[in-house]
Amino acid sequence: MTTTSQPSGLHILIVGAGFAGLSAAIECTCKGHRVTLFEKVCSIDEITRYGDIISFDPNGSRVFEKWVYPDKSSVAEKNGGNFSTDGLVGFVSLPGKRGATSVDVGVRVVEYFESDGDEKKGPQAGVMEKVMGDAVLAAEGVRSRGRKLVLGLEEDEQPKSSGYAVYRAWFPSEPVIAKNPVTKHVVENGDQQKGYIGPDIHFLVSSIKGGSEIKWVFTHIDDGNIEESWQFPGKPEEALAYLEGWCPVVRELVKATPPGRLIDYKLVYREPLPTFVSPKGRIALIGDAAHPFLPTSIQGASQSIEDGTVVAAGNMSKEQVMPTALKTYEKLRWHKADWNGPEGVWKVPEKLWLLREEWLLGFDAEGDT
Ligand SMILES: Cc1cc2nc3c(=O)[nH]c(=O)nc-3n(C[C@H](O)[C@H](O)[C@H](O)COP(=O)(O)OP(=O)(O)OC[C@H]3O[C@@H](n4cnc5c(N)ncnc54)[C@H](O)[C@@H]3O)c2cc1C
Repeated sequence: MTTTSQPSGLHILIVGAGFAGLSAAIECTCKGHRVTLFEKVCSIDEITRYGDIISFDPNGSRVFEKWVYPDKSSVAEKNGGNFSTDGLVGFVSLPGKRGATSVDVGVRVVEYFESDGDEKKGPQAGVMEKVMGDAVLAAEGVRSRGRKLVLGLEEDEQPKSSGYAVYRAWFPSEPVIAKNPVTKHVVENGDQQKGYIGPDIHFLVSSIKGGSEIKWVFTHIDDGNIEESWQFPGKPEEALAYLEGWCPVVRELVKATPPGRLIDYKLVYREPLPTFVSPKGRIALIGDAAHPFLPTSIQGASQSIEDGTVVAAGNMSKEQVMPTALKTYEKLRWHKADWNGPEGVWKVPEKLWLLREEWLLGFDAEGDT
């Protein structure tokens, strides 16, 4: 991990303690910056569990690994060459940290500022009744108000339906699942995950906490409109209608879901943004606020962690003023396409065509064999 030997003197304000905000906070702290992190949720009791399963690919878990075991080689050696992040989150210490982080929970940020400042203070950015710093990272997730407030986008485009939704449920496996001969194998061997796949549906079930709790999710075609909310209470009988003819274990899992423990979560997306950085270059959107991912891509969290890492790794310093550092982050993280220019994607859509490589498409399976 690259750390500075001295505090940098920079104060970074971060809005949102999700994967992007927390990663940025940890990484900025390691680089010697002072961080103030604002999070609207103030207690774990405010969070309802509804069958969320977050998987990290190596591009995301590599960052955890670095926080926990900065000297990776010694860990790999100890584990016979293998490294796993299982069970490590929560034990993050910040080796070599030179900065400081304060976390302000229960604060919903509703305003952003940036100013050219004066000769004494220099340019600044801030939130909420002018809590000022050197830069603000807006990491408020897919419903980001920063998109409007930072980029000045008019009531921002509404999220669009992908045509799919996900039913999600989470509940104790006792009394029904653990006793039912059709479903008990799902929970009786401790923590495990199973998947069932059919046309337009994939169904994942996980037993957790040694099999005492169970969570399941499945995607389904959805033709509803997205308006104010995209999360609705789900009804087991409606979910079962999508599973006509499916194997008994799947149907029994859905039938056993207690009232109030099922939601129907719309999969929505947004159009790509023209920029992630505010007009004066001192406020940047990171994570889902900048580029929301559908849960089914299984990359949103890892990409958010990458954003937090990249934004902190940029050469932020009093001399290397923010606009350059944040623009560097944007240049590295933004889709490399030029959307609006004379040769941009809207004019030349072929620019986004996937590479169709000769080594792949020209392969002659029989001839090669
Ligand atoms: C059901 C489901 C399953 C998923 N599965 C995966 C998966 O397996 N793998 C994967 O990589 N990704 C997955 N994702 C996507 C992943 O969760 C997101 O991409 C990721 O959480 C984005 O991180 P983020 O930090 O940008 O935003 P978030 O995690 O949404 O965090 C934003 C934070 O900002 C806070 N906040 C919002 N507004 C304000 C405000 N005004 N003031 C202060 N605080 C504020 C919120 O309370 C929240 O804590 C899944 C998503 C869902 C919904």
